[in-house]
Amino acid sequence: MASEKADMAVKSPRRGLMLVLSSPSGAGKTTLSRELLKREVELVVSVSVTTRAPRVGEIDGKDYHFRSLEEFEALRDSGGLLEWAQVHGNFYGTPKADVMERLVLGGDVLFDIDWQGARQLAAKAPRDTVRVFILPPSAAALEQRLTGRQQDGRDVIEQRLAGAAVEIERWAEYDYIIVNERVDESLAQLTAILKAERLRGSRQPALSGHVGQMLADLSARRRV
Ligand code: 5GP
Repeated sequence: MASEKADMAVKSPRRGLMLVLSSPSGAGKTTLSRELLKREVELVVSVSVTTRAPRVGEIDGKDYHFRSLEEFEALRDSGGLLEWAQVHGNFYGTPKADVMERLVLGGDVLFDIDWQGARQLAAKAPRDTVRVFILPPSAAALEQRLTGRQQDGRDVIEQRLAGAAVEIERWAEYDYIIVNERVDESLAQLTAILKAERLRGSRQPALSGHVGQMLADLSARRRV
């Protein structure tokens, strides 16, 4: 992140945003995040801290910072987390370091967090937070995706299906809702949201100098 900072300050006069993606497990959020990150160079993902055990193929520091409960609590209690929540019996949290600084420099941060975390971020930084909810097209599609990825046992799948209803019930708290039927279409919708949100007046404070100069130029021209 550090090497990009100087660059961003020059290139981007805008303020960055926090793009929050929530969905029940199996709605396709991970695929959408991965594809979005490939296309959007100004977007980096926030890597959460969790007490959950790594799944096969997951890498510490890339997918999550995998920590013990004691380590998680120490980080949380020292104010190191921007938000945190308990999900499916495990703790998850967003490390504070770097996020706020990145926003000031015009970089965007993607968060794959649950409704509890989304709510906390929106309460703490309402002007910086854009919340998107990814809905599965149907209950059957959700179950099929959860069963099909074969990463978890049946008991875990049952637990996640139960948790899905809790997550889905919060959909109306979000700024945007995407029904993820086809990945390419959902990705196009997500990209459109990001593009539009970057253009918000409140995210382009540096334009006030430019506009001030333009108004001065216009007034000078009128006197000629
Ligand atoms: P998983 O264990 O399947 O990777 O994630 C389970 C749930 O925890 C997902 O809904 C995911 O969005 C959420 N989650 C992951 N990281 C965080 C975090 O830092 N904060 C919160 N509040 N939720 C998180």
